[in-house]
Amino acid sequence: MPDENVAVPQPGPDDALIRVKACAVDQFDLTIRDGKFPTAKTPIILGHEIAGVVEAVGANVDNVQPGDRVTSTLYLTCGKCRFCLTGRETICADFKGYIGIHAPGAYAEYTTIPTVNLVKLPESISFPDGSIIANAIGTPYHALTKRAKVQPGERVIVTGAGGGVGAHAIQLVKMMGAFVMAVDIGEEKLALARELGADVVCDASAGDFSITAREWTNGEGAEVVLELVGTRTFESSLKSLSRGGRMVIVGSHTGTELKAGPQAMIANEWEILGSRNVTKRELAEVVALVAAGRIKPIVTGIYPLEEAESLHQRLRKQEIIGRVVLEP
Ligand SMILES: [Zn+2]
Repeated sequence: MPDENVAVPQPGPDDALIRVKACAVDQFDLTIRDGKFPTAKTPIILGHEIAGVVEAVGANVDNVQPGDRVTSTLYLTCGKCRFCLTGRETICADFKGYIGIHAPGAYAEYTTIPTVNLVKLPESISFPDGSIIANAIGTPYHALTKRAKVQPGERVIVTGAGGGVGAHAIQLVKMMGAFVMAVDIGEEKLALARELGADVVCDASAGDFSITAREWTNGEGAEVVLELVGTRTFESSLKSLSRGGRMVIVGSHTGTELKAGPQAMIANEWEILGSRNVTKRELAEVVALVAAGRIKPIVTGIYPLEEAESLHQRLRKQEIIGRVVLEP
């Protein structure tokens, strides 16, 4: 077992030293520790959903200062390629990796982060709430606004709706003036989905949810499916789409096969879109929405760092509702 004590890191010239106040636990942490992420090299300090206070800054830094409350985007990007320069840095052509894999993460008391990643958190947002904004809220924000381009009045299906990303996707769809059908397994998750504004809920353990989707839409299908689960739900998701429908695939998707028949794709002009996390500009937008009370972060538990292992076990059994947060 690796040493659990590490030295307080020193910020590089473009970095900030962050005193971690909260770090959320994500399904992606399991993907990494299971060795399913090819470029990850152990030992790793996990933790990419971060909120904290700037303690010190490097020589070149002028955008934050000690004492600032901050959260961070998830990726290490080049800042120079055509994608970075056009506000699409999550698909950076010279991608440097992930915080929590290729740079030490926030399952720790201190971490260093390039200050280009940081967005300030107002006093009104608690650190646990702030820690989940970039991923659990930012990821569906990017998927629904920039990729699916959801329009008022459209019908949107969210799979995995009771999980950390799904719970915020429901709120975002409602905020955008669209209708939402929440799909998940188990009454507790579906009850949360209802509470957050889902117009219809469907327990996927009963089988093919496209039947409910067709009933809900008078046989037409949904204009958008936000597919947060993977191979298990993909077939039903596709069958739930309307003519001209868009399916957006997000997150730590399980499985490797997504089968779609070309004839149905052509006949219905379906669009299948990938969506990758959140840009810094969008993160600032989501922070503003949370500060204004338009989106409520769903933090269902706050635990000391020592509980990381037990939380991972609960996450693996899909027992976690919303997001849980560590306080190092
Ligand atoms: Zn780039």
